[in-house]
Amino acid sequence: MAKLYFHYATMNAGKSTLLLQASYNYRERGMNTMLFVAGHYRKDGEGYISSRIGLEAGAEMFAAGDDLYARIADHHAHTATHCVFVDEAQFLEEEQVWQLARVADRLGIPVMCYGLRTDFQGKLFPGSQALLAIADELREVRTICRCGRKATMVVRLGPDGKVARQGAQVAIGKDVYVSLCRRHWEEEMGRWRPEDMIGFARPAG
Ligand SMILES: [Zn+2]
Repeated sequence: MAKLYFHYATMNAGKSTLLLQASYNYRERGMNTMLFVAGHYRKDGEGYISSRIGLEAGAEMFAAGDDLYARIADHHAHTATHCVFVDEAQFLEEEQVWQLARVADRLGIPVMCYGLRTDFQGKLFPGSQALLAIADELREVRTICRCGRKATMVVRLGPDGKVARQGAQVAIGKDVYVSLCRRHWEEEMGRWRPEDMIGFARPAG
């Protein structure tokens, strides 16, 4: 039985590295993979997946309204596909998550989705919500906070270096994301009085 997987984490946990490595493992054995990435990530008009350690691969882009089941079925009809990988899966629509479930259930192709669980305000992304609801396998990709605890949350630093406390869910550009444990996330978001002095939200000195 092919399954729908959701590998979730916060930012900078190495999700794309894991995805590219897993795809490589298939291809090394002579099998074919299809890679998808959200249309927000493109270079010269082409989709691509890049990892912090320098791995990079071209990928098909998905956008709102795309029928991913149809695209994968069409591709599979002329090139046998052994696994589908989706990066930035938090940007999938709920219906697209169902389409990917059908790829597993009806085409027999495993689908490995990688993405963020929550945004910088601690809210689920639509794609993550649907994946958490219906994926067969949930796997957490771990990274740590500056304090050493597991990081499950993310804050967004604007161009001024300050923590954004509101704003659009998606901001791709010069903003920097930092992964934190829940305790330090609440402090950086101003929801709880800071209890240590290692925060980056406060002015130096
Ligand atoms: Zn912490």
